[in-house]
Amino acid sequence: MSMDDVEQHLRSIPLVDHHVHGAFVVDIDRREFETHINEGSPEPIPEWMTMFDSQLGFSIRRHCAPLLDLEPNAPADAYWQRRTELGRGVVTSRFLNGANISDWVLDTGFSAGVVHTPAQLAAVVSGKTHEIVRIEVLAEQMVAEGVTAGEYIDGFRARLRSSTATAVGVKTIVAYRAGLDIDFSRPGAAQVERAAQRWITETGSAAPRLTDPTLLAFGVNEAIDLGLPIQIHAAFGDRDLDLARCNPIHMMPFLRRPDVNKVPITLLHCYPYHREAGYLAEAFTNVYMDVGLGVNYTGTRSSSIIAEALEVVPFAKVLFSTDAWGPPELHYLGAALWRESMIRVLRPWVDQGDWTAADAIRVVDMIGRNNALRLYGLE
Ligand SMILES: [Zn+2]
Repeated sequence: MSMDDVEQHLRSIPLVDHHVHGAFVVDIDRREFETHINEGSPEPIPEWMTMFDSQLGFSIRRHCAPLLDLEPNAPADAYWQRRTELGRGVVTSRFLNGANISDWVLDTGFSAGVVHTPAQLAAVVSGKTHEIVRIEVLAEQMVAEGVTAGEYIDGFRARLRSSTATAVGVKTIVAYRAGLDIDFSRPGAAQVERAAQRWITETGSAAPRLTDPTLLAFGVNEAIDLGLPIQIHAAFGDRDLDLARCNPIHMMPFLRRPDVNKVPITLLHCYPYHREAGYLAEAFTNVYMDVGLGVNYTGTRSSSIIAEALEVVPFAKVLFSTDAWGPPELHYLGAALWRESMIRVLRPWVDQGDWTAADAIRVVDMIGRNNALRLYGLE
């Protein structure tokens, strides 16, 4: 067995994408497409630049163009023209099925209506779909429906249980809403009711947005009691978050709690704090990590991110994800780049004799499939 066998295995293994969203179910123009291949900024891309001139843009031209019958590295204009000719249905099907994902663990909590629901995705792909429920969305639904502060605690518990009846896990975006450095201790009932009253009064008829640290901590603690795996957004994301407060290392006091240790916790994205995340996954039995999202956005440099993410972390604690949302290129590319980057990372290790080819294949299986299958109970 040699590195060629490892390479062949990486190119063909069906992956479990443990954190992903739907692809667009609406048509978008090039301007909109370009805003969706920029993670940090919500603003339109200015006329004097194009997001195709970025690591992600270059990687789309390199890896995605052949799926549209173009040469690798086709120019951006030719790429966009061919994409438009083929139409959304064909493009979406080619990219999603080309990714060779056997299980899509779908976060349905962001911009519902614009991207696939699990059922819509299942109609396009051959793999299985599984749902992750965002806990902040549940609180916002309750407030939009007119919950009173006195009903908040029981209402949230009931909603959390009913909405997760068929889900494989929950997700929190506390990083976006307050940062990972908040006090996660379990708030008392009176404290929760006061915070809920404040939020309900302030929100009035506006779209409710949960940012109160007490209510965020309440939601996370309720999720701990539920016992399903908890995905925690960490680090890289749009500028809505305060990146310095989204380093997962801030969560050490929370992760030290005995009740928290009973529940699998997956740290999502983690870039540029993937080394800190790797340490946490090494330090806490129940903590896992991925470098999804960062892989797409760093393009050909993703091999360095992946190598750095494989430093101190035990391999049983690393997960594969694309974190794709919107353009189906991101679903395909997240898988294609991971496969390519893993080959680049593993080749010198195997060639130098530091790893055997058999061990490399075993680790690929762990990260690409088996860790997530076990953790979310997907088998
Ligand atoms: Zn995501």
